[in-house]
Amino acid sequence: MIKDSLNKIKDKAMEEIKNVSNFDLLEKIQKKYLGRKEGELTKILKNLKNLSLEEKKIIGKLANEVKLRIESEAKKKIQELKIKAEALEENFDITLPGEKIEIGHLHPLTQFTRKITDVFVSMGFEIVDGPEAETEEYNFDLLNIPKEHPSRDLWDTFYIKSGNSPESPELDLGSGDSEQNSKNKLLLRTHTSPVQLRAMEKRKPPVRLIMPGRVFRHEATDAGHETTFHQLEGLVIGENIKMTDLIGTLQYFVKTIFGESAKIRVRPNFFPFTEPSIEVDMTCLICCGKGCGFCGGDGWIETLGAGMVHPAVLKNMKIDPNKYSGFAFGMGVDRLMMLYYGVNDIRLSYSGDLRFIKQF
Ligand SMILES: [Zn+2]
Repeated sequence: MIKDSLNKIKDKAMEEIKNVSNFDLLEKIQKKYLGRKEGELTKILKNLKNLSLEEKKIIGKLANEVKLRIESEAKKKIQELKIKAEALEENFDITLPGEKIEIGHLHPLTQFTRKITDVFVSMGFEIVDGPEAETEEYNFDLLNIPKEHPSRDLWDTFYIKSGNSPESPELDLGSGDSEQNSKNKLLLRTHTSPVQLRAMEKRKPPVRLIMPGRVFRHEATDAGHETTFHQLEGLVIGENIKMTDLIGTLQYFVKTIFGESAKIRVRPNFFPFTEPSIEVDMTCLICCGKGCGFCGGDGWIETLGAGMVHPAVLKNMKIDPNKYSGFAFGMGVDRLMMLYYGVNDIRLSYSGDLRFIKQF
């Protein structure tokens, strides 16, 4: 009997506490059940004197449990009411969903560079890096582009004025003429090719290398040109390396990145550091080769330059051209990234405009 009324008191108290909405009412409920004089639980305990010792023990224990249970429930409720009160003070609706934290992500250019380097790494290529401020010797001379040679005009170069500290280099927009010799005359590298030379100082064939990196050219900027852009070069040297190895490698690369329908076409070209040199075109992704405004009605788009490494360059790498041969290729990462994602202005990449970056 007493047991039943204890349980009833517990259930009733719990229910009332659960539904209470302010501190005053909660206090009244606590008093109603646990109050020292008139509390319902107290009243029951007062009647214990009529019970046997055994019963007193059992009921006493149960009554204590009920008391603790009610107290802890009330405590919980106090916390809950406090939070609500604070929220109300701040005029804040706690039922509103939280603000989503915006997480940054890699720049589209970085994402795309990783995508293409992954393809070459899967073919066993090693990634190598080199300095962005180069000497004229590495950027031109050793790549078979002698001074006064007209081919040097292909690269509009930012020279770094002599006597500048590396921390605050001043650019010389002139021809780069000065008394300094090319061994220590500094410039901002116009291509990633000098990295090939530097990498080969520490390696012996056979090698398979790729060199992604930032390059600089002193040109007017427009939708297709920037003074800063990214290249990825590849170099393979070994015995019996042939033009067909080069074409096969590039075909595999293009298909892996742009899909099975992407084909390549090879045309002869001239680069001082390769002989023979080729220009590689890829099927226009916009019109699938039918011809459109993007590809100038041709159905093909210029994708990269490549060729067999010139024997003079091999010699500069201290490699015997009679024993070894190699191929090299270089691509504009920005241009390919633009094709891949459908971006129509190279300047967007370097603008820092979040509206652009957030699309990727
Ligand atoms: Zn087209």
